[in-house]
Parts: sequence; C-alpha cells; structure tokens
Amino acid sequence: MVRRDAGQSAFAAGPGIHRGCREDGGIVTSAYETADFDAVVVGAGFAGLHLLHSFRERGMTVQGVEAGDGVGGTWYWNRYPGARCDVESVDYSFGFHPDLQQEWSWTERYATGPEIHRYAEFVANRLNLRDLIRFRTRVESAVFNEVSGLWVVGLDDGTEVRARFCVMATGCLSTTNLPDIEGIGDFTGDIYHPGRWPHESPMLQGKRVAVIGTGSSGIQLVPAVAREVAQLYVLQRSPNYVMPAQNGPLHPEQLAEVKRTYPERRRMSRRTRRGFPLPTTVTNQPASSFSAAEQHERLEAAWAHGGAIFTSTFDDITTNPDSNQVAADFIAGKIRGIVKDPAVATKLIPTDHPLGGKRPCVDTGYYEAFNRPNVELVDIRETPVQRITSNAIQVGERLIDVDVIILATGYDAITGTLNAIDIRGRRGVKLRDEWCDGAMAYLGLMAPKFPNLFTITGPGSPSVLCNMFVSIEQHVELVFTLLAELRQRGAEVVEPTQEALESWGERVADIADSTLLVTANSWYLGANVPGKVRQFMPYAGGMASFVDDCEALLSMDFEGFTFGDVASYSEQEAAAR
Ligand code: FAD
Ligand code: NAP
Repeated sequence: MVRRDAGQSAFAAGPGIHRGCREDGGIVTSAYETADFDAVVVGAGFAGLHLLHSFRERGMTVQGVEAGDGVGGTWYWNRYPGARCDVESVDYSFGFHPDLQQEWSWTERYATGPEIHRYAEFVANRLNLRDLIRFRTRVESAVFNEVSGLWVVGLDDGTEVRARFCVMATGCLSTTNLPDIEGIGDFTGDIYHPGRWPHESPMLQGKRVAVIGTGSSGIQLVPAVAREVAQLYVLQRSPNYVMPAQNGPLHPEQLAEVKRTYPERRRMSRRTRRGFPLPTTVTNQPASSFSAAEQHERLEAAWAHGGAIFTSTFDDITTNPDSNQVAADFIAGKIRGIVKDPAVATKLIPTDHPLGGKRPCVDTGYYEAFNRPNVELVDIRETPVQRITSNAIQVGERLIDVDVIILATGYDAITGTLNAIDIRGRRGVKLRDEWCDGAMAYLGLMAPKFPNLFTITGPGSPSVLCNMFVSIEQHVELVFTLLAELRQRGAEVVEPTQEALESWGERVADIADSTLLVTANSWYLGANVPGKVRQFMPYAGGMASFVDDCEALLSMDFEGFTFGDVASYSEQEAAAR
C-alpha cells in the first residue's frame, strides 16, 4: 500500500472518516481506511498534467498514475512518422497558465508529434509535476468504499491508493483497436499500431510495408513512410475526406502577435463551435445563400487556407445534405486533379458517408503519394482481406508479400479506456455495466452512483469534436467548481442524479440527430469496434453551446448534482437491508 501523509490538505480525510466495515451485499469495503491523498489522477497526458497542477495549487495532495514511462499521453505513444496536430499549434496548447503560453514558441503552424511531446515535457518540468506521478503503472480498478467515502485505486503492481477524489484523465483515444484478422499471429515480420509506435523508430528503409486503415493516422503515415520504403501498399476499407494542412513555419512576427493577444484568443476560442478562432473563410450562412460560382470561390479559399475548418465553409455543411454534397463534390474534384491515375482517384473519393460524418483528415501530401511508383492503393472493401500468412496479406486470391504491417485501425474511442478499468461505485455498481447499453456522463464528467469520480472529456462532452485543449481545460475547471461547491456546502460527496443524466443524454442525442454526423459508420458512434453499442458519444453542439449549457445548469444551484455525506450511504444501505 502506498502511504503518504495527507498533510495540511484542505480535503484530507480526518479521523471521523475511519470506520470499521465489512464486505457483503456486493459492497467492497475494508477496515479503518484513511486517505493517502486527496485525489488520484489517472493519466499524465495534457488533462492529467493540468489536473495535477490544479490540485496542488489548491493545497490538495494528489497522486498521478501513468501507464507510460513519460508524460504527454497521445504524444508519448504516437511516435509514428508524419504525426502532427490538426488544430493549429498556437491553439493546441494550454491557456490556463499565462507563463506557459509566453515561454513556449511553436515552430510550425501544425506542430510535429515530437514537438508536441517536447511541449508536454516542458509543461511537466516548468510546473514541476513529475514527482507527483507514478510512471509505468497501470490502474486496474477503482472501487468506491461507501463507508469510508474513499476511492480505492488498484494498481498493476498490486498496491492500492486511497483518495477522496478520483479523476480519470485517461484520454479519448488511448486504447488501440486491433483488427481480428485470421492468421495475424502467424506473421513473422513486424506489426505496429501508430498509437503504440516504438520509441526507437523502426528502420523501414527498403522494406515492403502495408498500411491497413486510412483515417487520420494512416493518412499522416502514408506520405512519410512512402518516402522511405521500397514498396507501400495502402489497404483501404473506406476512403476519407482529406484536406490539406497548408502547413509551414510560424514566423516570429506571427508568433509575437499571437502571444500578445493570447488572453483574448483563448477567451474567443471557448465562444466558437470548434474551440479555436475562426478564419475568414468560415461563414455563418448556408451554402444555398451563394451562387454556384460563389460557393466554388469560397471553397477554393477555404482549401487554400487549409485545415479541417474547411468543413465549416458554410454554416450547414454538417446538417444539410445538399450543402454537404457541394463541399464533397469540390473535394472529389481536388482528388481527381491531384491523383494522376483516374481509377485510383475514383477509389479515393468517399461515397459512403457525408463530409464531416467521420473525423475530417488533415494531411500533407496524402493524395500526392499515390502518384509515386512505390505506392499502391488496395481496395479491401471491393476485395476483402482473407487472412495474414507468415509473410503476406491475402487479399482475395492475391498474396501481397510484406515485411511490415502497420495497423492504422484506430481506437476504442471515448469509452474503451474507461471500460478497461474495473470501476465500481456505490453498492458495487460497475461503470461498464451502467454503460453496456450506451455510455453517458452528466456534462460528460460524472455518472450517478459514482460519487467524486470525474471523467475528463467523457461521453456527453464536446471532447473530440473540438480543440481538445479547450475541452480539457473547461472540464478541469468544472471539476474544481464542483469541489469548491462541495466545500462551501460542507459536504463530502457530489454526484449527478439519474434524472439529470437521462435528460443530458437526451440532449446529446437530440443534437447529434439534428446533424449528418449520425449517418456515418464512425468511431464517434462506436461503429469501428465490433460489438460496441452504436451511440453517438460526443456532444455535437459545439464548445460555445456546451459552455453555455454548463454555466446555465451550475447557475441554477448546481442543477442535476447532489451534494451529501458519506454517512447517508450507510443509512441507505441499512434501510435497504
Ligand atoms: P491522453 O493524451 O490520451 O492521455 C491519457 C493517458 O492516460 C495516457 O498517457 C495513457 O497511458 C494513460 N492511461 C490510460 N489508461 C490508464 C490506466 N488504466 N492506468 C494508467 N494510465 C492510463 N486532438 C486535438 O484537439 N487536436 C489534434 O490535432 C489532435 N491530434 C491527435 C493526433 C493523434 C495521433 C491522436 C491519437 C489524437 C489526437 N488528438 C487531437 C486527440 C488527443 O488525444 C487529445 O488532443 C489530447 O492529447 C488528449 O489528452 P488527454 O490527456 O485527455 O489524453
Ligand atoms: P480511425 O479514424 O478510426 O481510422 C481507422 C481506419 O482503419 C479506418 O480507415 C478504418 O476503416 C480502418 N479499419 C479499422 N478496422 C479495420 C479492419 N478490421 N480492417 C480494415 N480496415 C479497418 O483511426 P485513426 O486514423 O487512428 O484516427 C483516430 C482519431 O485520432 C482521428 O479521428 C483523430 O481524432 C485522431 N488523430 C488525429 C490526427 C491528426 O491529424 N492530428 C492524427 C491521427 C489521429 P473504416 O473507415 O472502414 O472503418
């Protein structure tokens, strides 16, 4: 057991919380517990770093636990060639600490993975957070003891940490989705997933490589890997819409202007749908308010501007099929213009989902890669993969000999990582059971029966549909707003009501249903993982609307939340018996 003195902490569990107890009725309890820390934070990605700093700033004791050997989360794991952010670097960064944003200087409009990883290390060092984290340690369980009111967090080294608050900063895209292809275990070459890329980058020079998957990861990998390898096979099940980053260096004067205006820029970002300032190529008018020539001119300007914000060129691209088609046709025209082989170009044009239905991909040179003599597009929708042998992938009757397979097959997004942990709340209720017919957290952050447990960027929050830094910061602030209220009320525990959760779930579903996003087989819906419940998980109303919703509910005396005492759980249980 990890023990540390909770010291002078404002929330430290006092002697009054030591209670004798037993195990029965599915309630896991243990005798005479005291808290080791006020809070446990699981994950040392950007959300974890922000939380660790925030707990400590408030005089609370906190233990971070991270499965990896370093900070950065996504950017610690994703070391694949070509990895970059798809939100501009100056916005894909923390705004909560004025010094951080003034001291750090991005070098490119869209930073590389290594640069973002260095930024995470800079944050951890600058805020002196490393000592708060146990690295190379995986959280296997988190069980609420309703007698002591503590979360008992079980680690893979067999020890436990007890804390009043447990925050899951485990990431929306941190559990890989690996395809179950017959014979995959027989392959004698190397198999990599971008999200578990070796930190010592593998030598791909001169090799025959297959990439399975053409989402954002595959699309970034392909041009970078194509330059190195002897032969690259791109195995595509569904084509995606890919927009150019139009990346380039950030000039000192641009950076200086951003730094000068950062406070206003951060404030504005929360008032937009996507969590960053909008370029002038975005209009709040529908496509139909422009002539065909004007539409084309606007789309051309948006393409030249670069980035996924292309999908906001007209206000109704993700809600009106006609507008969507206008933008999709424009991209199809671009693909035909770039890719020299018309048959290959046709295969690269999406036909099975609207633009924006799946996360739009941002690239540098993806379509151009198919003009290289060493790159072949293999349509595995038309001719599926049969199996993998010791040295080849069999597609239909064809055996494609390869030395390396890259499974760019995505993630068990949003819920996968949380469900991998045995999380049990009051009366031993398991979070994964609560979510078996569909996952939802109130404001994306809390679930009924799981007091003092927070899920940063959980289901029901804008998370992956926005700039994640803005989503993370807003959620971290929400945690501390709730903790301040808890203290103010002299209460021990906070959780949402079932009624509030259901009404929030309806709101999230209604918003999603008003868009075209629900019509694609995307990971937003869990459609990429066999057997996963089909349910649109993120809040699709945009960041500004989400912030408004949260503020409105909190201003109504914290509508939907209950604040109480741990003693009431024992009384309820006694009454139930
Ligand atoms: P993560 O960075 O995923 O960190 C979670 C951490 O929790 C991980 O380090 C993991 O090891 C740890 N963890 C998980 N489970 C456990 C456990 N049981 N025990 C211990 N530790 C655990 N978003 C954007 O807004 N813009 C972008 O441009 C962008 N680009 C991306 C590119 C890639 C390749 C990927 C995969 C995602 C991208 N994202 C982007 C989303 C990205 O995940 C977020 O921007 C952000 O980095 C998430 O931070 P986080 O701290 O919430 O989670
Ligand atoms: P993804 O978007 O889910 O794409 C996975 C790809 O693998 C899809 O093309 C999918 O095809 C294919 N696939 C999955 N299972 C398969 C199987 N069994 N057989 C054949 N093909 C299969 O995953 P991702 O590319 O890793 O991206 C996930 C998210 O991470 C992104 O949407 C984005 O949010 C983030 N990300 C961002 C960046 C960036 O640009 N900054 C880079 C990487 C990732 P189907 O479409 O047919 O399912």
